[in-house]
Amino acid sequence: MDQKEKTILFLSPVFKQMIWGGERLETDWHYEIPGPGTGECWAISAHPNGDCVVREGEYAGKTLSQLWEEEPALFGNFENAESPKLDRFPLLTKIIDAKSDLSIQVHPDDAYAKAHENGSLGKTECWYILDCAPNATLVIGHNAKDKDDLTAMIKEGRWDEFIREVPVKKGDFIQVDPGTVHAIKGGIMLLETQQNSDITYRVYDYDRLSDGKPRQLHVEQSIDVITVPARPAKDCVKEAADLPKDERNLLISCPYYQVWKIDVEKGISFPQDRPFLIMSVIAGEGKIGGQPIHRGDHFILPCGYGEVALQGQMEIIAASI
Ligand code: ZN
Repeated sequence: MDQKEKTILFLSPVFKQMIWGGERLETDWHYEIPGPGTGECWAISAHPNGDCVVREGEYAGKTLSQLWEEEPALFGNFENAESPKLDRFPLLTKIIDAKSDLSIQVHPDDAYAKAHENGSLGKTECWYILDCAPNATLVIGHNAKDKDDLTAMIKEGRWDEFIREVPVKKGDFIQVDPGTVHAIKGGIMLLETQQNSDITYRVYDYDRLSDGKPRQLHVEQSIDVITVPARPAKDCVKEAADLPKDERNLLISCPYYQVWKIDVEKGISFPQDRPFLIMSVIAGEGKIGGQPIHRGDHFILPCGYGEVALQGQMEIIAASI
């Protein structure tokens, strides 16, 4: 079959305005954003709060959640799967533009979310830093040594002692397991790959007001789910800016997803052997098969797509289950 005829599901992103958001999704990424303070681009999402629509081709106009229901063969036929993880499109890819700091938060694991959040899924997520200021930091982990220490620090609001900031730079990759205290700091743009879930416990919000009121905190749930002690800081951040060219470089493999970075220089070709493969072009431009793609494009290669041929000068973050 001619490469050009193979189905690629190009998606139109959904944008979210946030109190901490900026304008860079328009100024740097040339998306049409709803206005100032746009913090999130939901680039590949079937979540009810932001369900992406297919941009072109035979499925144009359909939402990703609709396709998951109606065309299960595109995604490897999980319609009869018993795992609750697969009763919906399981992943969510976002670009985040943090003009100011996000709240300090933590996500539950599947078991806790199932018991305490009406059967919801927990949330595991990971970040690829697209851009940040020199000497940027983000919050990953905490400094409490045991549960009593943790409880005291949170209840007494000893945030400077509690919060662990680690330095990051463009091209760093960070896996955020459930139970990990985390926060994106102002000035950071990143690509997030996560489980399709929205259960977040806010530990601390810098005493900020949103519409005149502080946003809700979830102190007890946070204390329940935070892992103590935290993983050592040096194990949390992985350099991924300069990986071997024209290869699929695995950044993480966990029970919920695998994520790869592909830096295309001379070209790479490999079989699409996953149930489906998500791709986000984060730099440069090139072609997939015969079709032009460029920075800011997000798409899904369905099950049975066949040989994936990438050419051009570009960087791609790919993910699958
Ligand atoms: Zn999070």
